[in-house]
Amino acid sequence: MKPLHWNVVVDAPLPKALTYLIPESLAEDERLISGQSVMVPLGKRQVNGILISQTTAPITDEFKIKEISGFHENRPRLLPHQIEWLNWLSNYYYYPIGQVFELSFAPLEKQTKERKSNRTPVIKTSIAIKAPEHSLEQKKVIAAISSHSSFSTHLIFGVTGSGKTEIYISLLEKVIAQGKQAIVLVPEISLTPQLIDRFSARLGDHIAAIHSHLTPREKTNQWWRMQSGEKQILIGARSALFCPLKNLGIIVIDEEHESSFKQDEKLRYHARDAAVMLGKFSNCPVVLGSATPSLESWNNVLNKRYILHELKERVENRAMPIVEIIDLKLERDQEKQAGTKADRPFWMSERMQFVLNETFDKKKQSAIFLNRRGVAQSVVCPACGATPECPNCAVSLTLHGKNHLLCHYCDYREELTKRCKECPDGEPRPLGIGTELIEKDIQKLFPSSRVLRMDRDEINTREELEEAISSIEFGDVDFVVGTQMIAKGLDFPRLTTVAIVMADVAFNLPDFRASERSFQLLTQVSGRSGRHLTEGAGKVLVQTYNPDHPSIQFASQHDFLNFSVHELEFRKALNYPPFGRLAVLRIQGMDLESTQHECERIKIMVTRLRDSSPTYKEIEILGPAPAPLQKIRNKYRFQMLIKGLDSQKLSGFCRHFMNSYKPSTPRLSVGLDIDAIHLL
Ligand code: ADP
Ligand code: ZN
Repeated sequence: MKPLHWNVVVDAPLPKALTYLIPESLAEDERLISGQSVMVPLGKRQVNGILISQTTAPITDEFKIKEISGFHENRPRLLPHQIEWLNWLSNYYYYPIGQVFELSFAPLEKQTKERKSNRTPVIKTSIAIKAPEHSLEQKKVIAAISSHSSFSTHLIFGVTGSGKTEIYISLLEKVIAQGKQAIVLVPEISLTPQLIDRFSARLGDHIAAIHSHLTPREKTNQWWRMQSGEKQILIGARSALFCPLKNLGIIVIDEEHESSFKQDEKLRYHARDAAVMLGKFSNCPVVLGSATPSLESWNNVLNKRYILHELKERVENRAMPIVEIIDLKLERDQEKQAGTKADRPFWMSERMQFVLNETFDKKKQSAIFLNRRGVAQSVVCPACGATPECPNCAVSLTLHGKNHLLCHYCDYREELTKRCKECPDGEPRPLGIGTELIEKDIQKLFPSSRVLRMDRDEINTREELEEAISSIEFGDVDFVVGTQMIAKGLDFPRLTTVAIVMADVAFNLPDFRASERSFQLLTQVSGRSGRHLTEGAGKVLVQTYNPDHPSIQFASQHDFLNFSVHELEFRKALNYPPFGRLAVLRIQGMDLESTQHECERIKIMVTRLRDSSPTYKEIEILGPAPAPLQKIRNKYRFQMLIKGLDSQKLSGFCRHFMNSYKPSTPRLSVGLDIDAIHLL
């Protein structure tokens, strides 16, 4: 009998499958099928692997081909379309193939008997709730989407509170009725007990959930409930996509614009894009939903690649909140003229004080929203609102030390001048203030009020989050002071006022998507206000030095369409996504000088590669420049931006470079981030 060879992808940092021999004793085994998990020797270790395809023996006799050790009994076999998808991920995002495949499996072995634990259950048993009578708009969208049973991508563009979640639930009910399974991805931050409860109250006993607050054991159990077919709907953050389901009926991605769908380390995939590819390989519909679609998805609607479904009204004719823009420059001028400082916290305008007072008197809730400042410090002129920008890249410059300004895309530098360059009497200064201070100030101003702070420092666990949410729901709270954590997804009946302390922080981040992010954030935060008012409307107050900034103007009018027209024009002019594609090379090293030196070497290599072939003519190379987070864990970080017009070409170019590159010392590492989102 001829010896049998198989290509096996193994759990190790290798770019390709390896060839293994099947021992004679297993040659007739019926488990010799593509997708079967096996154990194989690698060096001195035993590692997991997956059979991919049968192959002929390699011609070389340089080394002895090893035999597989045996079959992995407790892992489901991967189907051809799943293998195709995992291959695509490994290839497109440039990550070792076996390590991509490994993501398909639960973190621990299957438990034969479930042990009791005293943790709160992952899915609480909720009281079943009947579907509300769907609005005409909702009915139309449900009918339109469910007329598709094969691959097609749908974008539900519906204002906050328009009933998108209800639509997902309806679509999921249909999938359950067909005996199929579904994946629902939501951003980690909105994967709250509140949201899971809502799905389980409507879909009964069909839900499993996977998110980062679960223990490996809990994750494993949830994963097996989907595998065994006991549950039909998997709700989760990004990684839920990897649960290998045999009969996918639909994939839903809520808040598709969220940047947290992009993974920042290891396999740097974008869960939305990966979901669309999975839908393609599994031949099922993919549904994206947002009140503020990403410009990438919007452009796909304009190109007719995605099918658009619109919801223009909030349910039950509830009004959209009324947004008031408060010009901090005017406040400042008035104070200057009066010559006295008003008796209230420096960050609070007179108007904001008035409205917070009024809301408190009416026994309603206010949310005071503060942008997490992040790492990048930009400066703003309090007199005219101007922020220094890079002349090449049209992104904000960031402040380093006392007075150095730097562009993190192209390394352009200038000094911060004492006087503003745009107006006669301003003195630019750093932006930013903390939640703790705001909490204290509010407590001082409203001594009898109950103030709840929600940010990463205060709330770390699922239990803490749950507790905070229910105290808001039950009305034990008058003021919620918080960061991004309160911006998204939450639905509080008594919340009628949202106060945004300083909108400028968002659009001054050193990122070409800063305007878009800021538009999204303003819309999402505002969307928390007055969601259950049947009379009147919620209020949103936006304090800013730049009342005319397009992201504020368009967000205050709930006008995504005109915002997109405006923003796409800017993107087009500089070939930023969605018109061009963007990859980032991240270069890290322990020693500053040698890392900088390596950056220069890489720049020369990349440029030479670009010039070596006419196919690469369109590739643009920016930097190297220090990353905004210049040093993490004692490593110096630099980045190079690589722009291209075509995604395949750009990804091919980057792969080409990475395959030929060897660091000049082992103390250096270079990572590739295709379709980079976070440029920190
Ligand atoms: P979105 O996801 O678009 O923000 P939701 O689905 O959360 O909107 O709906 C907002 C609120 O309106 C929720 O409390 C939801 O239960 C309720 N709702 C949704 N659809 C209807 C409907 N057809 N009739 C009455 N209430 C509805
Ligand atoms: Zn620049």
